[in-house]
Amino acid sequence: MEARPASAGRGSPAYNMMYDLVIVGGGPGGAAAGVYAARKKMKVALITESFGGQSVVSAGIENWIGTKSVSGLDFAKMLEEHLRAQEDIDLLQPDLVEKVEKAKNGFTISTKEGKKLETKTILVTTGSSRKKLGVPGEKELDAKGVSYCSTCDAPIFKNKVVAVIGGGNAGLEAVVDLLAYATKVYLLEYGDKLKGDPITQEKIEKDKKVEIILNAQTTKILGDKFVAGFKYKDLKSGQEKELKLDGIFVEIGAVPNISFVKDLVKLSAYGEIAVDHKTQQTSQPGIWAAGDSSDVLYKQNNISAGDAVKAVLNIYETLNKEGGTRGGYTK
Ligand SMILES: Cc1cc2nc3c(=O)[nH]c(=O)nc-3n(C[C@H](O)[C@H](O)[C@H](O)COP(=O)(O)OP(=O)(O)OC[C@H]3O[C@@H](n4cnc5c(N)ncnc54)[C@H](O)[C@@H]3O)c2cc1C
Repeated sequence: MEARPASAGRGSPAYNMMYDLVIVGGGPGGAAAGVYAARKKMKVALITESFGGQSVVSAGIENWIGTKSVSGLDFAKMLEEHLRAQEDIDLLQPDLVEKVEKAKNGFTISTKEGKKLETKTILVTTGSSRKKLGVPGEKELDAKGVSYCSTCDAPIFKNKVVAVIGGGNAGLEAVVDLLAYATKVYLLEYGDKLKGDPITQEKIEKDKKVEIILNAQTTKILGDKFVAGFKYKDLKSGQEKELKLDGIFVEIGAVPNISFVKDLVKLSAYGEIAVDHKTQQTSQPGIWAAGDSSDVLYKQNNISAGDAVKAVLNIYETLNKEGGTRGGYTK
């Protein structure tokens, strides 16, 4: 590694920065990783479209350890402030990673804003985007009765009537979460049978508060300021039907945001980045992943943060074995 000349600022045309680590994503995973990497004095950059991650839309996050309740927006501010308080981290926001290519001593990252970064290692914490129903009313009533996370929002629906859309495992688990609060839970499935775990199915089928509706295609979410009901098409009879209720949980899957590395790393059957859960290493030496973009079983803020910290510690150990951190400059 060549010493950085005193006159060479970052981005100097004569010298290209070689980062130890580039973190992609600014949710809880990316933020935790950034804080740990900076405190380890690694030469680190973090590229993200925005701070806070998926739960930024949440009215109240009540399970982020150490805080009784925090709004999604304040949560994003807390993460950003913690990152900005670090002495030595390059934050590129708002920007999006579009391409990662293998290079001689690591990787070259290209961003939407036209930046090119050289790095020895990469940590992907780009999370996922929830699959949407794509029906009228869904976007307008997002976080106003339409939710994509029962673990987070079930308590808001105490003594209310709700529906869960999707009869796979996520949908069944959402029903279980909601049964502790709601007075009635409709479970709607597009196909002619539920697809989730039979034991959970049995459990919810026995519960008098649950009404299962099969062959149902949601067509419209109703409501002005808050969800008031929804319409669905009975695929057997062709009839359009309407239900009055207070909340709708959409559990039809998630799509990991990993297009920029999908050809470099092994993916799970669900398109998530497959990792070694002891170290967060992917199948591609030099690339780690953590949080919702990885094949971790449970997708939660605290888990993303913890797994990202695990990844940084392993990256630090790996780089030290390979000759040390503090980046470098190549002519
Ligand atoms: C509505 C909702 C409410 C939730 N509430 C809770 C809750 O109360 N408690 C809880 O524990 N969990 C909650 N969750 C789950 C939790 O939000 C996720 O598990 C968590 O956000 C995952 O963190 P992450 O850092 O892995 O990814 P994310 O939070 O998804 O963050 C990914 C980040 O990467 C950025 N990004 C994406 N692609 C790129 C790219 N190509 N280049 C650069 N940046 C990119 C995004 O801008 C984003 O900032 C909720 C989820 C939803 C949808």
